[in-house]
Amino acid sequence: MSDLATSTFRQLILRLSGHPWFRRLVTGTPPGRAVASRFVAGESLSDAMEAARALDRIRIASMLDHLGENVRAPEQAADAANAHVRALDRIAEAETLDCAISIKLTQLGLDFSVDLCLAHVRRILEAAEPAKTLVMIDMESSEYVDRTLEVFRAAHAGSPRVGVCLQSYLRRSERDVFDLPMGSRIRLVKGAYLEEPGIVYASKREVDESYSHLFATLWSRGHAIDVATHDPRLLEGARRIAEGEPNGWSRMEFQMLYGIRRDVQNRLARDGYPVRVYIPYGTEWYPYLTRRLAERPANMWFFLSNMVRGAMTRDARRTR
Ligand SMILES: Cc1cc2nc3c(=O)[nH]c(=O)nc-3n(C[C@H](O)[C@H](O)[C@H](O)COP(=O)(O)OP(=O)(O)OC[C@H]3O[C@@H](n4cnc5c(N)ncnc54)[C@H](O)[C@@H]3O)c2cc1C
Repeated sequence: MSDLATSTFRQLILRLSGHPWFRRLVTGTPPGRAVASRFVAGESLSDAMEAARALDRIRIASMLDHLGENVRAPEQAADAANAHVRALDRIAEAETLDCAISIKLTQLGLDFSVDLCLAHVRRILEAAEPAKTLVMIDMESSEYVDRTLEVFRAAHAGSPRVGVCLQSYLRRSERDVFDLPMGSRIRLVKGAYLEEPGIVYASKREVDESYSHLFATLWSRGHAIDVATHDPRLLEGARRIAEGEPNGWSRMEFQMLYGIRRDVQNRLARDGYPVRVYIPYGTEWYPYLTRRLAERPANMWFFLSNMVRGAMTRDARRTR
């Protein structure tokens, strides 16, 4: 599929995902839930911990993401913060498990106020102390970038256990990269949201070039970098740079998503590289799943072919 076709497909699926009928189709049918189970570890914290332990057995670290975004009331933000604290308590109990968490600020009330959101983030960071682990802040759509970086800077001033994500498809990231707390931990991704054409790079080539430039800038400024991509060329480029510097691996690791390129995850871990897998869990999996469907036409075809097969089986039963 050409670059243009892939990006048109991606935009189409992300636009469709806003329609209630599409949501019903995905969340209310067995094929939708079947596809979700490939990318989401389960609905409970126990499911996520089980996935983390299975990865740990093959020397892959993990990062739990309690799914949810854009909560509609401040009480829901408090509930989400409690869920993250519960996850951190379980991680602390697990002692030897190398497991971080990742949070979305719109799940913690960013739509209501920066102060409310920051208070929740600080509480989560306190809970991360006994677990001796990291709290990474996801980057959501572009309207939240300024506020996300504001919360990150304020939280980082009080705790080094927090890091943030930067997206290479955003043109503005080439400026944002110079405005991060020195030495802070940064997850570098391509970006997964539906954005207006002017603010993002349009072609894969430009997004990849931007990724390499941002990586080089972050590296030269002494940041710890989570290379969060499944793209073999970018993984290889980052590997060479880390290897070219004494102790390079002390500030870099590879990160991938649960259910995506397990072959690459396993191979890198077998070869002794630091790998961490992002494990989403919870009942609010719809927006996360639609972003994964939009990234890969094959995922959407898999979903649609399961729908058609399901419908044909039902028809066959009726005519029997
Ligand atoms: C740990 C982690 C955290 C992330 N956090 C954020 C975040 O906070 N904010 C944000 O905007 N985005 C985030 N993302 C998503 C990211 O922006 C990309 O959308 C996603 O990683 C796909 O891009 P890619 O870098 O793998 O490169 P691509 O060029 O899209 O893909 C490279 C290869 O990976 C495989 N692949 C990629 N996606 C899929 C898929 N859905 N299904 C099957 N195979 C696939 C294919 O083999 C593909 O050829 C995160 C990604 C990771 C790995």
